Amino acid sequence: MNRFAPSTTGRAHPGTLLAALLCWLDARSRGAEVALRMEDLDPQRCTPALATAMGEDLAWFGLDWDQVSVQSSHQARYHAALDRLADAGLLYACTCSRSRIKALARPAADGGFAYDNACRDAAVSDWRQVAGAVRMRLDGAISIRDEDGTDLGQDVAVAMGDPVLRRRDGAVAYHLASVVDDAASGVTRVVRGRDLAASTAIQVAVQRALGLRTPVYRHHLLVLERRGTKLAKFHGAVGADVLCEHYGSAQLCGILAHLSGLRDSAAACHPHDLIADFSWDRVRVRDQVLDWTGSDLVWGGDE
Ligand SMILES: [Zn+2]
Repeated sequence: MNRFAPSTTGRAHPGTLLAALLCWLDARSRGAEVALRMEDLDPQRCTPALATAMGEDLAWFGLDWDQVSVQSSHQARYHAALDRLADAGLLYACTCSRSRIKALARPAADGGFAYDNACRDAAVSDWRQVAGAVRMRLDGAISIRDEDGTDLGQDVAVAMGDPVLRRRDGAVAYHLASVVDDAASGVTRVVRGRDLAASTAIQVAVQRALGLRTPVYRHHLLVLERRGTKLAKFHGAVGADVLCEHYGSAQLCGILAHLSGLRDSAAACHPHDLIADFSWDRVRVRDQVLDWTGSDLVWGGDE
């Protein structure tokens, strides 16, 4: 079982569609099932309308799913997992402000700032009574490799700091939700963009604390866009609501198949056409730049 888990904070953009396509092909080329799981836990940024639109964008592109779920309907299972971690003595209340952690100026592997585990002594038995953030104590190094051989191992408490599992605003954090849902759906392969590679060790640590099986992880190239003089993960430039006015879904699939290395030309194709000879050996390793001119997508090669 694979899963594709987009954040429903906006419409599907070319980077979302490429990630969905690679995850889907990884599953379908093995004859495996694939679940679509909407990550809609951020109450400030996610709405039911955006989750519906994401499902429609992916269906338009030609992808189908064996299960569809929204994380906001899984609160009971996340809370049960928090109860188990609290019973094991692993949760504590953290009252540190974001500015305090920033002032520590300890760069973290994910591009943010590492936490110094200052509140570890504030262990809680009833996390529901905590007004601030709830963190999980992690001790010891995690060894894990990507399927492509990349070392994803980390001493999480040092490299990132103990992770927040329930945010100050009450929302369950991504790492916990993701791990609990993967286990509930029987996910055996996690295929996703390499921007999430640095958080793999945290997720493995949470899995181990909960006694859950660790799936195989495969991280892949990103689609980048130019923002001023910098390159950033493709996000803001254009969404499927605009793309579909300029491209048919098969045309767009052809462009993404070419950009990712799956096809030698950008000739129109359907996702199903790519199943038979799908192989990670053909997928480009390096991130690729894609520009939106206002009417066309222009592939600019390697980062
Ligand atoms: Zn703290």
